[in-house]
Formats: sequence, structure tokens, C-alpha cells
Amino acid sequence: MKEKTFALLLIFILVGCSAEKDILLNLDTAKKLVQNYYESGEFDKECSLQIESAKKEIQKLKLNEKSLVVFDIDETALSNYEHTKEIGFGYVYSLWEEWLEKADAKAIPETKKFYDWLIEKNIKVAFISGRDEETYSATLKNLKDQGFTKFDTLITRTKATKKIPAAEWKAEEREKLVKNGYNIIACIGDQWSDMVGGHTGIKIKLPNYLYIID
Ligand SMILES: [Mg+2]
Repeated sequence: MKEKTFALLLIFILVGCSAEKDILLNLDTAKKLVQNYYESGEFDKECSLQIESAKKEIQKLKLNEKSLVVFDIDETALSNYEHTKEIGFGYVYSLWEEWLEKADAKAIPETKKFYDWLIEKNIKVAFISGRDEETYSATLKNLKDQGFTKFDTLITRTKATKKIPAAEWKAEEREKLVKNGYNIIACIGDQWSDMVGGHTGIKIKLPNYLYIID
């Protein structure tokens, strides 16, 4: 009985403490939780919720032939989950480069459905990705192989823009699109840096429990 009381007391103390500061998880536990999130359908469900809500907003808009949605690529249009899992949920630059060259990432199903819905409505699509220009051909191939065959432009980083912070660079690229006559009605991405600054339209933030890009 005494042991039971002690255990209960310990639980109360732990719960009390965790309410006041971040809960520190064992890394192995955290990886299992992330894996379960992606593999149980929760990830797809959350993507669907965000996208369906955006579709309702888009349906209220007055569209024209220059209406455009900006898509991010990694963890938005294409999933790198399998690669990330394969290396134990880490990040190794050389392996990442090899993975991109394989052009074998799978489309994120809910994003692909959203893309098809937009194309059917004659809404234009542009990709703005933080990937380097060296991977342009592989990226283009991967997108097309996964069914993203109709889009106005694919913008990647160049040597000149490589070091600009993601949010700032993406906002600059969106501004160029607007100057070229496009009307950006929405932005879809897995990072907040995909959709801060001007010319975003409706913000569609997909979940990403694998990494953060500021
Ligand atoms: Mg991304």
C-alpha cells in the first residue's frame, strides 16, 4: 500500500513538473511517436484538414487566368519521410544530396489531390523550393514522375540566393511572380518560412515533425 501511495505521489509530482516546463522525451520514444504519426494515417488526416479548409476559402475568391498557388516541395509536394527514416531520423548532407539525385521521393497524397483540384479549375501552380539549382533536373524529373506535370515555373536556389534566409528569399521570389502579373491566391508549405512576408494569399501550413527550417 505504501508503495502504491509513493507511486501515485511520484506521478503527481511528475505531472505537476511537466505542466510547468517542456516534457523531455527519450530520443528513441520520440522517434517511435513520430514514426507512428506518419505511418498511422494521422499525418495524411492533418494534411487533409488544412487543405479542405483552404479549398473552401479558395472557392469564395474571384479567380482570373493569372490566379496562382505557390507550392513548396520537400514535405509539401514530395515526401522525404522514407529517406529520413532510413537514416534513423537524422540529417546527413551528403546522403541528402544522393537522395535528391535519385529523384525517387513520393508525392504526398493529399497535396497531389489538391494540385489536381487546382489544375482542374485552371488555377496555375508555381514551385518555390529551397533546393539548390544543382538538383534542378532531378527535382523536375521527380515532380513529373509523381504526376505534377503542369506548372508555370519551378524556382530553386541559385549561387546568388543560396545564403538568403528561407522566409526572406521565398518572399522575394513571390514578389517577382506578382511583378510578372500573377495573382497569388494561396501558399502551401510545411514550414512557416514558406509563407511569411508579402504575397502569400491563403496560408496552408502542413505538419512537419521531422525538421524545422527558420
Ligand atoms: Mg518544405
